[in-house]
Amino acid sequence: MDYLPLFHNLKGRNVLVVGGGEIALRKVRLVQEASAIITIVAKDFCPDLLDMAERDKEHGCNGLHLITAPYKLEHLQAIPKLVLVIAATNDRELNRLVSEHAQAANVLANVVDDPGYSTVIFPSIVDRSPIQIAISSGGDAPVLVRMLRTKLEALIPAGTSKLAALAGSFRERVKARFANGADRKAFWEEVFAGPIAEQAYANNLDSAEQLLAQKLESSDEFKTGEVYLVGGGPGDPDLLTFKALRLMQQADIVLYDRLVSKEVLNLVRRDATRIYVGKTAGDHPVTQENINQKLVDYALEGHRVVRLKGGDPFIFGRGGEEIETLAEHGIPFQVVPGITAASGCASYAGIPLTHRDYAQSVRFIAGHLRSGKMDLNWPELVQPNQTLVFYMGLSGMETICDELKQHGLDPQTPAALIEKGTSYNQQVFVGDLDTLPATVRAAGAQAPTLIIVGHVVSLHRKLAWFNLAERPE
Ligand code: SAH
Repeated sequence: MDYLPLFHNLKGRNVLVVGGGEIALRKVRLVQEASAIITIVAKDFCPDLLDMAERDKEHGCNGLHLITAPYKLEHLQAIPKLVLVIAATNDRELNRLVSEHAQAANVLANVVDDPGYSTVIFPSIVDRSPIQIAISSGGDAPVLVRMLRTKLEALIPAGTSKLAALAGSFRERVKARFANGADRKAFWEEVFAGPIAEQAYANNLDSAEQLLAQKLESSDEFKTGEVYLVGGGPGDPDLLTFKALRLMQQADIVLYDRLVSKEVLNLVRRDATRIYVGKTAGDHPVTQENINQKLVDYALEGHRVVRLKGGDPFIFGRGGEEIETLAEHGIPFQVVPGITAASGCASYAGIPLTHRDYAQSVRFIAGHLRSGKMDLNWPELVQPNQTLVFYMGLSGMETICDELKQHGLDPQTPAALIEKGTSYNQQVFVGDLDTLPATVRAAGAQAPTLIIVGHVVSLHRKLAWFNLAERPE
């Protein structure tokens, strides 16, 4: 190990920065975040540094002092109890001289972009104060470090700060309650992987605090259940949200639909119980009431339940009804949006739903037949400059196309049917209101399929980019 990572408490301690440009500014900002008292020596200062000093003075902080002069050893020697010197000029020789002075005085030295002359280096930081993650390659691969940081930023919920602060405020009480370290650890593990953490991430801090207090006071067996209504997207597992993935990996029980892809389901925590509650058209093995009740029962038993649905739970997903029942029973729940079939299929088929040359609006329509009929407001649907997206429209496709024509839409209006959108089996059939049904029936397309009608469909030829090997003629 070339460097030992340490976290430096700079609060109220003296730091010297040499240099007044943009590079110095970046370091000053960081050190200021850590509440150090900063002296900056430079021949001149960039406007932002001058502003910062001005604001510091206005607020009476007395934390930032500018000295306009060429750097001299005396500047360094004049600062009492100096703990850190940062050389950030664009003069390499001067930077090295500053570092030598600092080291001779036994003060930590950092030279920007010159690790060889530094005794300490600045890491890349993922800041979820009070949680801090510092990453460094010792100067070997800064770009790699930046990429790793981006990954971590995405992985760690933004609300981690709030959760850590909450934990901090309960630390002593938890210590008093559990004398044994192993019990304490088990307690915190449950807190950080359950509804309390989720409430903190959702910025429901009162509720998180209340749950934590309850958990602390109740018996060891006490557990709070919660239901997460999660959108699993249209199929491609890469389209899940970070939040969906996190909750799927914490769940005790997962109730899922027919439309949830195998690849998405594979991402559920290994030892979670998986319960299929799917419905196939015209055949309802598990009634909606039954699903609603199951969610309530499992949550009341204290489980973390994920209700995993295809696409987005609030778009033709009856998600609203499920959480209404939960709300009536006072069970905490959260809703995680997913990419709905219209967005997923349109993107993966290269059909921009509202390309401004062709459409100013888009409609999502339930296109299923009820007793052989489709009761829709057709005169509205044939208005110009809009894109129509029909969900559940495969069996009624002929009716959809006929009705649109009868109500005045040009029979040559482009139309597409996307089968199993966003999966490797995706097929896109393109035609117009006259030709599409026959093309689709001849190919024997199977559910799930989505129908898009409107001039934006013509862009598919130019913009298709996904799964081109499987493209039908
Ligand atoms: N909540 C879901 C929709 C449920 S209704 C969502 O937001 O996407 C079910 C209908 O969604 C299907 O009949 C089909 O029209 C459409 N659908 C869902 N996934 C699809 C996919 N991968 N490809 C094409 N259509 C899909």
